[in-house]
Amino acid sequence: MMNMAESGAATDVQDWITSVVREDIRALASYHVPDSSGMIKLDAMENPYALPEAVRREIGDIAASAELNRYPDADARELKGLLRQAMAVPPGMDLLLGNGSDEIIQLLAQVCARPGAVMLGVEPSFVMFPMIAKVCGLRFVGVPLASDFGLDADAVLAAMAQHRPAVSFFAYPNNPTGNLFDADALERIVRNASGLVIIDEAYHPFARASFMARLPEFPNLLVMRTLSKLGLAGLRLGLIAGRPEWLAELDKVRLPYNLNVLTQRVAVHMLRRADILDTQAQAIRDGRARLSAGMSGLAGIQIYPSDANFILFRVPGAERVFEALKRRRILIKKLTGSHPVLRDCLRVTVGTPEENEAFLGALSASLQEVGAGHA
Ligand SMILES: *Cc1c(COP(=O)(O)O)cnc(C)c1O
Repeated sequence: MMNMAESGAATDVQDWITSVVREDIRALASYHVPDSSGMIKLDAMENPYALPEAVRREIGDIAASAELNRYPDADARELKGLLRQAMAVPPGMDLLLGNGSDEIIQLLAQVCARPGAVMLGVEPSFVMFPMIAKVCGLRFVGVPLASDFGLDADAVLAAMAQHRPAVSFFAYPNNPTGNLFDADALERIVRNASGLVIIDEAYHPFARASFMARLPEFPNLLVMRTLSKLGLAGLRLGLIAGRPEWLAELDKVRLPYNLNVLTQRVAVHMLRRADILDTQAQAIRDGRARLSAGMSGLAGIQIYPSDANFILFRVPGAERVFEALKRRRILIKKLTGSHPVLRDCLRVTVGTPEENEAFLGALSASLQEVGAGHA
């Protein structure tokens, strides 16, 4: 048998890929990030506010003086100290940092991926949980949420008894639904879980409910946070807090310089000026209340309560409403089609007051347009 180069098939890259790349990877679709140029961008839970001019200049100085010829501090000691304070990590608990919390989800999956291992989550929730599970060779078990998107603790515990997951993820508040699960239901799950439980508090700045202080109560719990939704999505900095014994296992898989020099130094600077991000988070919470009030006034849509920086809503003809908004240069997230219970659902991120107004106006016009086309 000739090899592919000899057979003249070297130009057929697909044959090479078929013979080299894992079959399950070939079957996956990569995470799609839509083009947002020229749009009002309300699709990705970003903080819409820029940093004050003076702070931007300080960051410029930091970049100018950073030693880019040197590897970063592999342990990020200074940054960890500041994060420990800012996130109120309880005494005795440690921190591990990642290039975004996405990377930490991957570390968790990698260390738990014994042959046949299962990752459990709820559905619908953060799409990276099942995606990372698959890539790392874990079987993902998704337990449906209740019809109001609440946590069905009995269903979760039954699934845990059946599948014995090594690791389970709960986003608190949940994405894409925006709600905070009942804390007692979550506690019952952690207490009776078959394995490690991760509470993903990416939206903590907008919810102010947390399991962080309760880490010492549970030997199988870790709490994950990120600076992304707080206003530093571009820096890529996530963290996980918990017992040093767990984090030591994760640290073996972490690449030594996963946090670059600029991320570390700029994050240190921003944590010293945490008041700026806190003020912006407050403005986002205020914006959420006004956006939600404005949306409630529109006929034909159902909005879901949110403790996050986005609002999930249901509207008949969601697909066409999404396209009509896009024609008005407003990009939100289309969820309809991604999961049966998200049928006719769209998700809008809270923007600046001006962006929220623009969205409300465009939504109202789009509803009329679609409604008229529908009749
Ligand atoms: C956005 C999000 C993250 C990812 O955050 P990064 O730190 O930017 O990687 C993690 N979990 C949930 C639930 C999210 O919505």
